[in-house]
Amino acid sequence: MTKRGGQSLSLDSLREGGEAFIQEISREYYLAHSGQKATAELQPIYAKHAEVVSEDALALTIEAFRGSAEGTEEHRSARALLDWQVESQSGRELAPLDEREIAWESSAVVRVPDGREIKFEAMAIEIANNPDANDRHVLEAARAKLVGAELAPIRRERFQREKDITEKLDLAAGYNATFEQLSGISLSGLRDECAQFLRDTQALWDEVVPEFVKRVLDMKASEATRADALALFRAREFDSGFPAAQMEASIRKQVKEMGIDPLAHGRITLDTGEREGKRSRAFCAPVRVPEEVYLVLRPHGGQSDWTTFLHELGHALHFAYARPDLPFEYRGFGDNSITEGYAMLFDHLIEDQGWLKRYTELSANTLPAFTRAAGFSELHFLRRYSAKLIYEIELYGGTTRWESLPDLYVESLTSATTFRYNRADAFVDVDPHFYAARYLRAWQLQALLTETLVERYDVDWWRNPRAGPWIVAALFGEGQRELAHEQAQRVAGKTLSFAPLVRAVERMLG
Ligand SMILES: [Zn+2]
Repeated sequence: MTKRGGQSLSLDSLREGGEAFIQEISREYYLAHSGQKATAELQPIYAKHAEVVSEDALALTIEAFRGSAEGTEEHRSARALLDWQVESQSGRELAPLDEREIAWESSAVVRVPDGREIKFEAMAIEIANNPDANDRHVLEAARAKLVGAELAPIRRERFQREKDITEKLDLAAGYNATFEQLSGISLSGLRDECAQFLRDTQALWDEVVPEFVKRVLDMKASEATRADALALFRAREFDSGFPAAQMEASIRKQVKEMGIDPLAHGRITLDTGEREGKRSRAFCAPVRVPEEVYLVLRPHGGQSDWTTFLHELGHALHFAYARPDLPFEYRGFGDNSITEGYAMLFDHLIEDQGWLKRYTELSANTLPAFTRAAGFSELHFLRRYSAKLIYEIELYGGTTRWESLPDLYVESLTSATTFRYNRADAFVDVDPHFYAARYLRAWQLQALLTETLVERYDVDWWRNPRAGPWIVAALFGEGQRELAHEQAQRVAGKTLSFAPLVRAVERMLG
């Protein structure tokens, strides 16, 4: 208990206040990122809920964490609460920077030397949909110039300050050790797995990359940049198989067939239309878990919309079906590898031939080529995220100077993916708080969940009316109480690893 102004702050009152605070913050981000507000006013929300992100609140959660024995439920709960507190403490101090970044992103305009002016937020879609390599490179150069001058300095300052704020709390020796302690994830273990994965798949990657770059883009792999990769993975050649008008109805039908209400009885709202100012990266906003969840997507066209919609729907269903009586910390915090694992369980349906036949317009003779392309894309993104995690461990680790990071970024990402990366993105193409680790563990978890669902409900588990209720009860209902490796043991009796992913990629590319 900590005394403050005669009022005592307890874990229960912190949960209650935290709930109200998180709702307001999430709503503000949702409105800004979906283009319904040009700016996000975060600072007034931090001020209004000052007690929830106060030093007392932090002290209380540190005390609960240190005072509970490892392996107990109290310790699990205290770890999730402390993790949330640490992030909120830096969130409060960095709110002015975050507001600046959000305002910049919704108003920035890329000026191309030939006179074209393109909104920064639409740039990724613009590049991905551009069939002309020279023009893509012109657009990319203009984008990188703007990002390097304006966005990169804001982001670099954010990482530096976040690292300082976290390290000042003195919970462990440095940012990375603090992350390991609060997340229950071994960064060094995952980094070694990633390095091994990159080595294990290098020969396969070298073999397939020239073929795809030549066939889809008519370029040499050595000339391709990250802008070309955007166009390559946009995979326009399969567009007719993934009509925009059919996407929502088809996927909702499938979710219904497996025995889940796709809108969770009105708790999920779909926001999938075009809107000025909407971010190009789709997201799910769990504003009140489980009662009020938004799925926001800005259409790009074709297969990538379908994959993205499936991914975000996995999140939305997870949050909307979390048991309402779960403590606050397990409905919104804990190991995000869990929610990303469910999102990937859904987005990997795009690799399932039976699913494709039933729910898309892809013709039977296109299926083999599509599956091969999906295997190539899977291998690319696994290699990209492995390299990103290794780089981000350096970024936060403090052993590489900030000035040297852009070169390290370009070298790491280019060598893993073959596509030439840009120095301007060294602080922009970074997922804060090691979110890449959550993605990588989610990938591994997804493979085990799929295996389990096939064993229990057959190869077409995705249309088995008994599968959905099991997913809701055994997975979604639990919120994020478990860590991903604990869930893998409980549900599949297995250890998380890249092995099933390598097998799947080899099968698809074979
Ligand atoms: Zn996600």
